[in-house]
Amino acid sequence: MNTSDLKLWIIVPCYNEEAVLPITAPLFLAELQKMIAAGKISSASRILFVNDGSKDATWDIIRDLSRSDEHFLGISQSRNRGHQNALLAGMMEAKERCDVTITIDCDGQDDISAMEQMIDEYRGGSDIVYGVRSSRETDTWFKRTTARSFYKLMNKMGVEMIYDHADYRLVSAKVLRHFSEFREVNLFLRGMFPLVGFKSTCVYYKRSERLAGKSHYPLGKMISFAIDGITSLSIKPLTLIVVLGLITCLLGFVGIIWAIAEVILKNAIAGWASTVCIILFLGGVQLLSIGVIGEYIGKIYLETKQRPRYIISEKTWEE
Ligand code: UDP
Ligand code: MG
Repeated sequence: MNTSDLKLWIIVPCYNEEAVLPITAPLFLAELQKMIAAGKISSASRILFVNDGSKDATWDIIRDLSRSDEHFLGISQSRNRGHQNALLAGMMEAKERCDVTITIDCDGQDDISAMEQMIDEYRGGSDIVYGVRSSRETDTWFKRTTARSFYKLMNKMGVEMIYDHADYRLVSAKVLRHFSEFREVNLFLRGMFPLVGFKSTCVYYKRSERLAGKSHYPLGKMISFAIDGITSLSIKPLTLIVVLGLITCLLGFVGIIWAIAEVILKNAIAGWASTVCIILFLGGVQLLSIGVIGEYIGKIYLETKQRPRYIISEKTWEE
């Protein structure tokens, strides 16, 4: 049998996942052991569950798992902070203890068997390996279309993002050490890793249905995630406001000429409707623009506070 020194930590965020965790945890372990047996990774590799302030029995399940097998570890955030912060907590915990990390959702939607391929790519010299969905057959038409438009919009806004990549990703500890210098509080990891650089590649996998439990990302949350992504990584909307302002000014100018022409031509001006339309239009543009600027000021406000991005309250191991 081959052996390897490569220490892998698989990082799994969990929020209210009591229904699915008992199903997927053994699958993660089986895959880990398969890779250990194949000599791809060291037997000191671990699976780290990050409990994101779950309100159900998730943390109890994680603690039981960690007692049942030494490969299972868990940390718990002091409260729910969201998927991105849970991933960050896990990656920061792992970065000094392993050589390479893979982040994966705990609901079985991401194909676990793609991990081995990710490790191969890492051995081939890539420091970041993006898991990319090869098809979206299992998604509804609505989810598919909104997701596609989301990527298109992000690219138009100048955010470099891998198409159809979520947060199933291999990242080396070396990259994570550099990544920890990115101090922002508003996290949008899939748009941030391309900024870190280093050699990267993609591995394709088929995304399936959740094995149990239900999604924590309904449409409303997805929209706010998209807005977060754009306003955290791009200042194009501010430029767009300037363009919008210029166009409005131009229209206003044409309007003034038109009004003067009407006066000169002595046409009786009913005037009321056009005035109201212009006022409403201008009001709308102004409110929208102030709103976009407000989004950024809000971000600046949050960033200047420099609050901790995660707080770990418990661990399954003693230090
Ligand atoms: N998750 C989390 N904190 C949250 C919401 C979700 O850690 O506040 C985890 C969740 O347990 C899962 C992953 O993030 O492992 C993805 O969530 P989900 O499957 O609900 O999202 P979807 O796949 O439907 O987009
Ligand atoms: Mg899911």
